[in-house]
Amino acid sequence: MPLVVILDDRETNRHIYSRLAEAIEPGVTVKAFADPLTALSWLTDNTPDIVITDYKMPHLNGSEFTQRFRELPSCADVPVVVITVYDERSFRMGALEAGATDFLHSPVDHSEFVTRARNLLKLRKQQQLLRVRAQRLERKLQKSEQAREAALRDSHERLAQIIDTVPAMVSAADRDGRCVFYNASHAQAYGMNCSEGSGDEARNAAVDRSRKLDQLVLETKKALPSFEEEFAGPEGEKRVLLTTKSPLRDLDGEIVSVLTTSLDITDRKRAERHLLHLAHHDSLTDLPNRMLLAQKLGMEMEFARAVEGCFALHFIDLDDFKGINDVLGHSVGDRLLSVLGQELQSVVRETDIVARLGGDEFAILQTRISGASDAADLAQRIVEVTSRPIDIDGKEIQATASIGITLFPADADSADELLKNADLAMYEAKADGGRNFRFYSKEMRIHAQDIGQLDADLRRAVEHDQFLVHYQPQVDTQTGRIIGAEALVRWRRDGAVVLPSSFLARAEANGLIIPINEWVLRRACSDAQRWRRLGLPPVRIAVNMSPVQFRRQNVGKLVTDTLQETGLEPKRLELEITESIVMEHTHALIGEMRWLRRQGVQFSIDDFGTGYSSFRYIKAFPISRLKIDQSFIANMHRDMSDVAIVQSIIGLAKNLSLGVLAEGVETEEQRAWLADEGCHEAQGYLFSQPVTSDEFVELLRAQEQVQDQMARSA
Ligand code: C2E
Ligand code: MG
Ligand code: MG
Repeated sequence: MPLVVILDDRETNRHIYSRLAEAIEPGVTVKAFADPLTALSWLTDNTPDIVITDYKMPHLNGSEFTQRFRELPSCADVPVVVITVYDERSFRMGALEAGATDFLHSPVDHSEFVTRARNLLKLRKQQQLLRVRAQRLERKLQKSEQAREAALRDSHERLAQIIDTVPAMVSAADRDGRCVFYNASHAQAYGMNCSEGSGDEARNAAVDRSRKLDQLVLETKKALPSFEEEFAGPEGEKRVLLTTKSPLRDLDGEIVSVLTTSLDITDRKRAERHLLHLAHHDSLTDLPNRMLLAQKLGMEMEFARAVEGCFALHFIDLDDFKGINDVLGHSVGDRLLSVLGQELQSVVRETDIVARLGGDEFAILQTRISGASDAADLAQRIVEVTSRPIDIDGKEIQATASIGITLFPADADSADELLKNADLAMYEAKADGGRNFRFYSKEMRIHAQDIGQLDADLRRAVEHDQFLVHYQPQVDTQTGRIIGAEALVRWRRDGAVVLPSSFLARAEANGLIIPINEWVLRRACSDAQRWRRLGLPPVRIAVNMSPVQFRRQNVGKLVTDTLQETGLEPKRLELEITESIVMEHTHALIGEMRWLRRQGVQFSIDDFGTGYSSFRYIKAFPISRLKIDQSFIANMHRDMSDVAIVQSIIGLAKNLSLGVLAEGVETEEQRAWLADEGCHEAQGYLFSQPVTSDEFVELLRAQEQVQDQMARSA
């Protein structure tokens, strides 16, 4: 309800004004005072909605009252109407200055009093309403502001927590290079405890680390592509970081700071390095492998070209590694290789590279040499170090090596060529008996090209059936009677007949020996069967076998199939094997041979005495005959030790109940001596050269006739 205060020292006025005030609106409360001071004291505790005061009063006039009223709490905007006489202009001014709202002229017009007071009250009411609304709005605003701040604080904290869990170092620096943010990983990487507030150190370290790059981001306004950098961890250990830098913008899009994110990739790098090492090194010796050697060769070539220097490439191959592997087992072979790898490392300088190319092949890149003599010196050291006896499991093993050397830039200008050259030179060293070295020469390349041509021609020969078989009779040394024949392969090449010495080694190396020998076996068996059908006396047919066949083929099956196909009796067939086949013996091989032997097939050891076969091995094989190598027979007349060898082979055969046949018998003297010594079989030019099948038939026929004549004359 509106409260109206009336102040007038005259009773009549107070009465009239009070009545008028009551008429302003229903429910108005009127409080009238005669004395301004009494009014002020009441007003200290009560706030009216309008005050209507006389100007002229004892103690205080209207202006003074208004001024003091305005100072009271919550009375600053209560409308104050001052009643003055018309001509009291100066008083009015004073009252306005003191804070009066309006004036009424005395004598007061009643309806003006009521209207004006009503309007002022209405205004006041609206003002109050506005104020309440404004306050409510303000409160609301305040509340929402608080909520927003709380939310922001919350999201900041949550973001910080999330960023703390990110396993990357995250930090940000402002335009002046001050660190404004960093996460837990960052603090940890710099060896600090976040909660201890030792932030400055982290800030500075982070900023110093990348100030220039931050500057670049600020200038270009672009993120930097990720880059790797090295960084010392809290204990000084080297770490590798993958770092990204990008600009951070404020709401207006202005760049305010640079965000740095670094991922610790030390472990990944280590794993990568390990994988790289595995890819570039040999697992047995941990030496660089062929791939790494090729890379190093490329680099060394570049260097040598730049400084006009030279280097050597040594190709090292052990001489009888296969034998060691076969006899002593693969694990001993492996140990030998790794020891030799270390030994090779010990004879080179730090700048040289020792690589293992595979199997028993090593290579040494001898860098920065002054000439061939440096390479020869190293090769000599390699020959010596590789032939030093090595103790493995208490066994002393001695290997030897052949070395081929090629020089850059004299011999070639590519890594491939250099490797080929060194390989060729190594083969020459090996062909010269091994345990030595050879320098590459252009002639070797020509020789290699010849070999390539030979391989191609041989392949064509197999495809076009260019082979033939000649037969050399085997005879009884006492009667001269033909008891068998050895099948010897020939190659009809460009009209000429080529002997095995010029192509068999290649055929063994390139594997063509397998189809060639299959063909020879079949041809020999079918020829022998044909001779039988011609009514000739049965003879034994000997066929040479290659070690390659035993390694790669099921010889047992091949032989039985061929016998079945040709119809030859198994007991007419003899297979000549070499001592190396015996040395490479395996249980499977012995089983195969024993099975063939049971069918009646015979085995002889060819060129006996030239290999390394031990009697113990021979005993394990179902051998029927030893063929004494022709070199002993040829030298008997001038070398007594050869005589002794032949005698002891004959003795050995007798003791082991084996047959014995002498090869290469060219003279009557040799035949007679052999017959006397108890060697009953022989073959050689004395009796016949190897001849064609038809010629052999003639020989058999002639012999039949002689025997018929002898029988008739007897
Ligand atoms: P081999 O098995 O020891 O054969 C004997 C070789 O001595 C033959 O040489 C033969 O012509 C030669 N010869 C025979 N009598 C005399 C003689 O009185 N004086 C001299 N100086 N030589 C004589 P060929 O035919 O050149 O064969 C050489 C080697 O080739 C054979 O030695 C054998 O190891 C191998 N060979 C021949 N044919 C084959 C075959 O079909 N398969 C396999 N794997 N090797 C074969
Ligand atoms: Mg032979
Ligand atoms: Mg022989």
